[in-house]
Amino acid sequence: MNWIDPNFPKTATVSPLVGRVLGLNPGMMTGPGTNTYLIGRRDPILLDTGAGVPEYMNGLKSYFDERGWTQPSRVVLTHRHRDHLGGVAHLRERFRGLRVGKMIHRDANLPEGVEDLREGQTIEGDGVTLIPLHTPGHASDHLCYYLPEEKAVFTGDVVLAGSTTVIPAEDGDLLDFMNSLKRLQELGVRRIYPAHGPVVEDGPALIAEYIEHRLMRERQILQALGDGLHTIPVMVERIYALVPKHLHPMAGQSVASHLKKLAREGRVREHPVPDAASRWELL
Ligand SMILES: [Zn+2]
Repeated sequence: MNWIDPNFPKTATVSPLVGRVLGLNPGMMTGPGTNTYLIGRRDPILLDTGAGVPEYMNGLKSYFDERGWTQPSRVVLTHRHRDHLGGVAHLRERFRGLRVGKMIHRDANLPEGVEDLREGQTIEGDGVTLIPLHTPGHASDHLCYYLPEEKAVFTGDVVLAGSTTVIPAEDGDLLDFMNSLKRLQELGVRRIYPAHGPVVEDGPALIAEYIEHRLMRERQILQALGDGLHTIPVMVERIYALVPKHLHPMAGQSVASHLKKLAREGRVREHPVPDAASRWELL
């Protein structure tokens, strides 16, 4: 599968209850672009809004025309990242008074009037129910949304189709991320609707793959520490030997997120070194 697929459909009806309009923001981090979903039989709930690319509004309009819809009932967001909430302003220009909700958590510079949405609340649409699940790890404010009518889940950036999820240093947390994956696993879903990439029919298989990938990385890191490789750069040299050098800084972030998890679990300890990479040791 080509991650930045230029032929990814701009709009699609992926199930009788779910439509999809592409955010038109392709890239290394976003693949073909951010998926925005329209959920319900009429007056759909819009989940995520893309990055704010102006042409997105045209795609949305033509999809609404095709379905005979006039407006979304409301907007819900998976998390604060720009490629998910960047379209809010354009949508509010087009649809006056449109309600927008997300989990408000460590947020700054949110668009005005965003409502707080929490786990435990339920969002009712036309023939659909969305149940928000707090799933931090990629972002501390992240919500996935379970759709019981299909036993499906909208995973935002927690599970992507065609790439691994980034755990950013500032706001990400790998231990939280692993726990979020386990929660998704316990839902017993069938389909996954990811924020980037196509619909995943076998959700459990992909979640299991995500968990296994991280555990494999963790084993490699513990092995490297056991073999006397004590800093992130030398660990990256070994573990990512087959990965092009220019991607090593990103790989370093990933190793750092693992070490932070292992430190939280009391399995490794960091020794800061002035003007150099920290030394890490096994406990
Ligand atoms: Zn994100």
